[in-house]
Amino acid sequence: MVNRDMLAYGQARSVIRELFEYGRQRAAVVGEEHVYDFSLGNPSVAPPPEVEETIRRLVSERDPCALHGYTSAPGDPAVRERIAASLSRRFGTVCKGEELYLTCGAAAGLCCCLCALCQPGDEVITFAPLFPEYGVFIRTAGAAMKVCPAETEAFQIDFAALEALLSPKTAAVIVNSPNNPSGAVYSEATLKRLAALLEEKSRAFGRPVYLISDEPYREIAFAGTDVPWLPRLYRDTLVVYSWSKSLSLPGERIGYVYVPAQVTESAQVYAAVAGAGRALGYVCAPSLIQRLAAACCDLTADLTVYEENARLLTRELREMGYHVPRPQGTFYLFPRSPIPDDAAFSRAAQALDLLIVPGSGFHCPGHVRIAFCVPRRRIEGALPVFRALAQRYL
Ligand code: PLP
Repeated sequence: MVNRDMLAYGQARSVIRELFEYGRQRAAVVGEEHVYDFSLGNPSVAPPPEVEETIRRLVSERDPCALHGYTSAPGDPAVRERIAASLSRRFGTVCKGEELYLTCGAAAGLCCCLCALCQPGDEVITFAPLFPEYGVFIRTAGAAMKVCPAETEAFQIDFAALEALLSPKTAAVIVNSPNNPSGAVYSEATLKRLAALLEEKSRAFGRPVYLISDEPYREIAFAGTDVPWLPRLYRDTLVVYSWSKSLSLPGERIGYVYVPAQVTESAQVYAAVAGAGRALGYVCAPSLIQRLAAACCDLTADLTVYEENARLLTRELREMGYHVPRPQGTFYLFPRSPIPDDAAFSRAAQALDLLIVPGSGFHCPGHVRIAFCVPRRRIEGALPVFRALAQRYL
């Protein structure tokens, strides 16, 4: 007999993965160039050249035992110091290496934070539209997910709905800005209002409501859009970051949790994050890649391609009559489905070899997600299919 929850997670593929696997099978039949796959958020631009240079240098310079050996459980101290110095410089803060816990990407970082903060019976609030894995991570931490319904005009926050969800059981709130899948960035005004509400509720409930800022897309912000630094606005913020998107390294599994010293009971919270890393088997993020991250933490891949793709798709789809909210970052577009049943619309697109993900998978029905981290020719090839669907449904 196996664990029922784990069995269910292992057996049920996400809608995104289903579409992606379908696309691979279909490509084998009709040819890759005839399948317009916009399902998966895999970066389409190469890492910056410094990534390869650094790996070569590290491999040639360092003693292999030291390079490939275990580091300290939370990450190599020199690596953490280097990343902390970068954060201090970039965000005008005082970050120390001992406040960072290196992990296998943002996914592991989120799991560590949630397991560290939640007790049985607790609740964690998320905002639709949301990264579907949040539900898995929160349940595994023994808590219940409460979804704040989407504000679908500007994809900011519906504060009345949020206030109704906050309760003495709320252990944490997760924000993700720039957002997967809406591409929206929370404005400073939105985040200040959120901070004020959480401060008020923390006082009223007699427990801090921690804010987990899941920000793997921080660097992918368009036209100078400001992505506010949350620890400056709300004291009890934990930052979860990864280089999966900014350096195009999703397969290398590297990121961190930052527990600023200002956080309530920060030493305890940090120790619990480390304890969660231990309990979940995440200690010692990949050793070579830790060193790579330290050397390249001030760099990004050439992210301009995403902004160009966003502009092209937004303009073309709007001209066809689609309702497309303005993307401010990430590599996702989240247009309104021309028919209320987004799954039916996704199936109609799939029948024409256009793979786009129904918004219901992100707790936001009535929309579809287009992951435009793809070669330009795929976008250009897909436009006639989008047009045919617009003519049929709009
Ligand atoms: N959070 C969000 C919103 C994401 O979109 C993703 C991945 O796509 C993750 C977390 C996990 O990222 P990582 O590859 O760093 O584990």
